[in-house]
Amino acid sequence: MKIQAAVVREQSGPFDVSELDLAEPKDDEVLVKIVGVGICHTDLVCRDQYFPVPLPCVFGHEGSGIVEKVGRQVVGFEKGDHVAISYKTCGNCEPCLQGQIGYCHGLYEHNFNGTRPDGSSALSENGETVHGHFFAQSSFASHALCHASNLVKVDHSLPLELLGPLGCGIQTGAGAVMNALKPQAGTSIAIFGAGTVGLSAVMAAHVVGCGTIIAIDLVDDRLATATELGATHTINATDTDVVAKIHEITGSGTHFSLECTGIPQVARQAVDCLTLTGICGVMGVSPAGTEFNLDMNAVLFGRSVRGIIEGDSVPQVFIPRLIDLYQQGRFPFDKLIRTYPFADINQAVEDVESGKVIKPILLMNA
Ligand SMILES: [Zn+2]
Ligand SMILES: [Zn+2]
Repeated sequence: MKIQAAVVREQSGPFDVSELDLAEPKDDEVLVKIVGVGICHTDLVCRDQYFPVPLPCVFGHEGSGIVEKVGRQVVGFEKGDHVAISYKTCGNCEPCLQGQIGYCHGLYEHNFNGTRPDGSSALSENGETVHGHFFAQSSFASHALCHASNLVKVDHSLPLELLGPLGCGIQTGAGAVMNALKPQAGTSIAIFGAGTVGLSAVMAAHVVGCGTIIAIDLVDDRLATATELGATHTINATDTDVVAKIHEITGSGTHFSLECTGIPQVARQAVDCLTLTGICGVMGVSPAGTEFNLDMNAVLFGRSVRGIIEGDSVPQVFIPRLIDLYQQGRFPFDKLIRTYPFADINQAVEDVESGKVIKPILLMNA
């Protein structure tokens, strides 16, 4: 079938909205008509080839839409179902079998190959292969081929076009708090970076009852949003000794911290701001090979550092919980979002890169 899709043709090049051919779903695939799709930092990291995904490629991995066709072996989904689309895992490796699917051994080949794991691509343009299957969706497009395993069915009463980012950026931040760090009520947390991931973490920290929630960023508007979403303190890190400031607020440092920027110096601050036995969660994506330094004695005194992928989320379990909290008014993720027509994808990218917008969502029918 003919579809509209945004193709990145060269490293750091623009998103070129073009007409492509999309093959029919295979037996285990689901064709989804995309309604909305968020733009995530990882799309841009891959466009820039920090992670080498082969080009030309259709990115987009925070899609939501309506099931249009299901492969013969697919159970549990039918035409007309509303779905949020998340990441894909193999389902068979040790972490997958233990429910730690963010650490699937096949994460790369199921999400970043630019093809299906078998090396094929369903996308082409004038007979030439175009790479896709990004997070088993490539949803910067009117239609996407997904799998039953990376779809989450959602109620028809929900604003479908806004739900895609629950499948990546939002579950990453909220899950880091609710699934990975699991702070007890009354504890303190410092969240470095007030983009989608950091602000979702702020909302989650508020939900679980953290007593002190400190948001750190360079942009005052974002810090104001953090306050609105539950941060008890904010620090603009421009010209401020952030670690000293956090010690001033907490006395001995925070129980938890989250590094959402991918910047080595910030990761260092996120460890140095911890109290003894504090835990730092590292989530920021940085170019391959990036290193960061720690004071060995800081770690020696009971502190720990752990990486967190996709907020340790199993999307089919966690996204319905976030939707439930949203419906109760306790997780207002829609405050992070600004919508754009799909045709304006390059403007939306410019706005998110300049910090003007937190979470752009492209609307297919606008
Ligand atoms: Zn696996
Ligand atoms: Zn993402």
